[in-house]
Amino acid sequence: MKDALCGKAGTYYDGELTPDEESLFLAHLAGCAECQRALHSTVQLDRQVRR
Ligand SMILES: [Zn+2]
Repeated sequence: MKDALCGKAGTYYDGELTPDEESLFLAHLAGCAECQRALHSTVQLDRQVRR
């Protein structure tokens, strides 16, 4: 079963998840290498853009 939260790393990083979704996402993130990688690259990108 595909987790509905998978792929929401960018949305999470933007602070656009509801508090409910956010805690579900954090639980998902702990076990999902794909989301960890996505979140990491979002952070990197954000740092480059903001400088
Ligand atoms: Zn995921």
